[in-house]
Amino acid sequence: MKTVTLNNGVEMPILGFGVYQVEADQTQQAVEAALAAGYRQLDTAAAYGNEEAVGAAIKASGIAREELFVTTKLWIQDAPAEENTTRAFEDSLGKLGLEHIDLYLIHQPFGDYYGQWRAMEKINIEGRARAIGVSNFAPDQLLDLIINNEIVPAVNQIETHPFRQNTDYQELMKQEGVQIESWGPFAEGKNGLFTNEVLAGIGVAHGKSVAQVVLRWMIQRGVVVIPKSVNPDRMAQNIDVFDFELTDEQMTRIAELHTGQSQFFDHADPDMVRFLSARRLD
Ligand code: NAP
Repeated sequence: MKTVTLNNGVEMPILGFGVYQVEADQTQQAVEAALAAGYRQLDTAAAYGNEEAVGAAIKASGIAREELFVTTKLWIQDAPAEENTTRAFEDSLGKLGLEHIDLYLIHQPFGDYYGQWRAMEKINIEGRARAIGVSNFAPDQLLDLIINNEIVPAVNQIETHPFRQNTDYQELMKQEGVQIESWGPFAEGKNGLFTNEVLAGIGVAHGKSVAQVVLRWMIQRGVVVIPKSVNPDRMAQNIDVFDFELTDEQMTRIAELHTGQSQFFDHADPDMVRFLSARRLD
């Protein structure tokens, strides 16, 4: 598996398996199937409610811990953020049945994320999270965090797909040493992604599906991808993207699909800030 090197030297597989919206009682089976298909990078979150099932699948697989790269995410914490972050991290570790996490992310840029970050810096220095990063941080929030703290986030996981490409933001992140990671690589099929004529046409030229073209396009851009599927055939398809290469002309045609519009919601929308900030995990 091709990897990217994070800003602290940790190697991260460029393609992994996401488990958002996989029901807790289906997650173990899905992750076991993904591991059997060859995935070695897993992306979960405390907020997904399926860390225990991910942990059970890891255990059942018998795959050596050092061969796996596991990401989980910290949900918004009440004050005192540092104490609560440490507790939340240990809760995630326990649910996953692991002694360390490979990548621990702040899930949302809300609440006392400075306090959360300070606790995560300690966790990182202790080696309990090999790398730490953020998710859904806008450029101003990311830069502010970088400028005013010790450890530069290794990753920013943001909505990235053909309709929202984040190329300028990727460049800024690169300058700052932050790896871009895409969530929703297929925009969950919204805006007709799986039947898009440009993507389908490029797929035909390579004997590949739209999904494979999208993943390949991001991998060639150096974007980490974590497609989700509960279907073993699609899991196999989504990891089979290392035997072809898009031409410069094909990359340009995909670049032209960019609209800049989120297919989900805007994190700066006051209603979303209120909604997400009000949520607490049990
Ligand atoms: P996604 O990967 O863009 O799309 C998943 C959808 O595409 C599912 O409906 C899946 O259906 C379908 N699909 C998968 N492979 C396919 C293929 N080859 N052909 C046709 N359909 C296919 O959506 P996502 O789950 O939202 O994003 C991926 C991961 O990113 C998540 O699982 C999660 O780990 C992470 N994420 C993070 C955040 C955040 O705030 N940090 C937000 C959202 C997601 P089937 O399952 O039926 O195959």
